[in-house]
Amino acid sequence: MKVFKFGGASVKDADSVKNVGSIIQHFKSEDVVVVISAMGKTTNKLEAIIEAWLNEKENKETLLQILLNEHLKVIENLFGEKEHPVKNKIAQLFDACKTSLMEYRNSTYNFIYDQVICTGELASTIIVHAYLNEIGVSANWLDAKLAIKTNNTYREAVVNWESTSKNIQTILKDKKGITITQGFIGSDNNNFTTTLGREGSDYSAAIFAYGLHVDSVHIWKDVAGILSADPKIFPEATFMPAITYNDAIEMTYYGAKVIHPKTIKPLQNKNIPLMVRPFGNLESTGTVISNNPSDQESPPVIILKENQVLLKITSKDFSFIAEKNLSMILEVFSKHLVKVNLFQTTAIKVYACVNQNAQKIPGLIDDLKKQYEVSLNENLKVLTIRNYNEASIAKYAGTKHKILEQKGTNTVQYVLLDTE
Ligand code: ASP
Ligand code: MG
Repeated sequence: MKVFKFGGASVKDADSVKNVGSIIQHFKSEDVVVVISAMGKTTNKLEAIIEAWLNEKENKETLLQILLNEHLKVIENLFGEKEHPVKNKIAQLFDACKTSLMEYRNSTYNFIYDQVICTGELASTIIVHAYLNEIGVSANWLDAKLAIKTNNTYREAVVNWESTSKNIQTILKDKKGITITQGFIGSDNNNFTTTLGREGSDYSAAIFAYGLHVDSVHIWKDVAGILSADPKIFPEATFMPAITYNDAIEMTYYGAKVIHPKTIKPLQNKNIPLMVRPFGNLESTGTVISNNPSDQESPPVIILKENQVLLKITSKDFSFIAEKNLSMILEVFSKHLVKVNLFQTTAIKVYACVNQNAQKIPGLIDDLKKQYEVSLNENLKVLTIRNYNEASIAKYAGTKHKILEQKGTNTVQYVLLDTE
């Protein structure tokens, strides 16, 4: 058994859906759970719709109608002008979405978000499922909310592995062949919708894979696989045929947008290989992430994290920053839910580089200032080079003004000005 995942870009319009259909058709005699995201930028658009409804904006109805029309257009392009029953289903789904927007308008933002945002994944999977039927691929459609159980931390729900694995096994035991389901969504104990964090569909694929103990997970993308850098910024990026789970988890930690960071752990735990492969070429398995290192030497991997700020935390009375202080400082970061991307200490100073965040940083600084002097340096980026060598350092950081440097045996990081 296999798990496939198709992201928003691979179902963004009718032609893309046709392409997904032909890939699934190719595997139609196998047992495959296919996890699909919302079409194109639907999730962003639903976020704007929630904003508009909560703030009673004049265009609230229009925005919802536009998104519905976009879906209906895809259906028309797939099935022609004839009245297809899927049109009705999608219209009903958007009606339900509107009902949620009205019914839950006084609930917490995160709760209403999850009840509304799932419309995107439900719509895309209903459309792909109908298209598969049209081309003669019989497939099951599964509501992922029945399978993936979580706590009720809306928008960042934590998976209940035990009940989820049990559900997945029970539901999918008798479902042979192709099963289409949604990424990103699950449900809490009261069966309200929850979501796993933005871009969480990769993680959903890993959850199904873990529960079913499948032999492989395939994330289909519009690129050859995982590259050594983002080719939009570094055109010289090279394709990596194989990386280890460890490489993958480190790359996502340093900010590479290859896969959702939570995806690796469940797969590593069950030793399930993950392929990030191109949907334009069925012959290629793309980049294989597994326990087996590549037999080729890994190129330097370049990761850029933009929108960073650097906090300099100094002891007020020239006393040493020892373990006790360090743990207190880190606790303040943890209390404000601010993740530290780079941390460096000296006798009386701590440097911490974190994502710019107008909501969180001022409160964090106020709290730190109770005990320490704090200064803030903005408009920065962090450049990480894994498997660095002298040539890669010279090329990517050589002439740049380095505000901070941290060098280990394998990885070097620089805090640089955003403008450089
Ligand atoms: N549709 C969701 C998002 O855009 C989940 C995903 O694409 O993975 O965040
Ligand atoms: Mg998406």
